Amino acid sequence: MVDLKGQYEPIKEQVNRTIQEVIDTTAFINGPEVHGFQKDLEDYLNVKHVIPCANGTDALQIAMMGLGLKPGDEVITADFTFAATVEVIALLQLTPVLVDVDPVDFNIDIEAVKKAITPKTKAIVPVHLFGQVANMDALLQLAEEHNLFVIEDNAQAIGADYKHKDGSTSKTGTIGHVGSTSFFPSKNLGCYGDGGAIFTNDDALAHTIRGIVNHGMYERYHHDVVGVNSRLDSIQAAVLRAKLPHLDNYNARRRAAALKYTEHLKDHPKVITPNIVSGDPNAHVFHQYTLRLQGVDRDALVKHLNANDIPCGVYYPIPLHKQKAYADARYNEDDFTITNQLVKEVISLPMHSELDNEQIEYIVTKILEFID
Ligand SMILES: *Cc1c(COP(=O)(O)O)cnc(C)c1O
Repeated sequence: MVDLKGQYEPIKEQVNRTIQEVIDTTAFINGPEVHGFQKDLEDYLNVKHVIPCANGTDALQIAMMGLGLKPGDEVITADFTFAATVEVIALLQLTPVLVDVDPVDFNIDIEAVKKAITPKTKAIVPVHLFGQVANMDALLQLAEEHNLFVIEDNAQAIGADYKHKDGSTSKTGTIGHVGSTSFFPSKNLGCYGDGGAIFTNDDALAHTIRGIVNHGMYERYHHDVVGVNSRLDSIQAAVLRAKLPHLDNYNARRRAAALKYTEHLKDHPKVITPNIVSGDPNAHVFHQYTLRLQGVDRDALVKHLNANDIPCGVYYPIPLHKQKAYADARYNEDDFTITNQLVKEVISLPMHSELDNEQIEYIVTKILEFID
């Protein structure tokens, strides 16, 4: 699905040198590379504050802690996403409210969000799924009308641009009150282990969050709030700092590969290729290239591709509202028709910055030979 070795080769010397420097200086925790990466990412995203942390799941949890959400507060998020999003809501004893997604872009459905808002709702968590920006203008408007926080789960879309109604653009993750991302190795900007970060333009919130990630300390050995220990280590920061200048190029190559796949597959009646809904070409950075199959035995296709040495993935096979951990009597199946359908239809093809035309053509040939 990814080619981390192929991505490493051209930057090997620089990455090795910077890792060696961290080892030589033994500044493994909170070293200068962490601060340097934070500044570089603030500049890249054009955001006032980046707070590095240990992984993308922590980033989401800490963002919610920073906003002061309290047990019983309702938090609306998408039914069709990775479990981390709903997991941290539940862990903090907030009440997850799962809603359906849009069949065109797979992102949280605005009408469903509207329906789900109650006096207890405190936040909405859009996930920019598979690398495509959610409808942020509509969500921000709802948030303003109902006095809610918007927390962007940007784990799959780092580097994407959102074009606002007024024509201006922002990087995803910096549009809501707070955003989070993951630097898991296979993400669009991945390190060589675990890593994550929180973004905000709110000075007070950034200050609160900086204490939370460090055991609730704002002054050494004074613990003002209950915090966590969540750090990006210096070696991971050094790797990320070496890779960040390549992110736009990596994303451009993913998009080019996606367009190639689409060119080959778009006219097939049994295949729905991914839509780019925004007018901004960089609104989708293709963390995944996900097809919808119509009248195809999806699981047999997965087996056929695997038998031909083609990896593929089903993201996600089970809606969150049907997972044992998150099932709830208040959910009504009629409210999840799109997610219930998508989980049966979707298949994600290999997608990364090293994918070449020959590989794409081989993959496409094997798909078409099976579904025709
Ligand atoms: C990967 C991912 C996360 C979690 O990131 P980790 O670094 O693995 O904790 C959260 N949300 C989404 C949508 C993701 O894809």
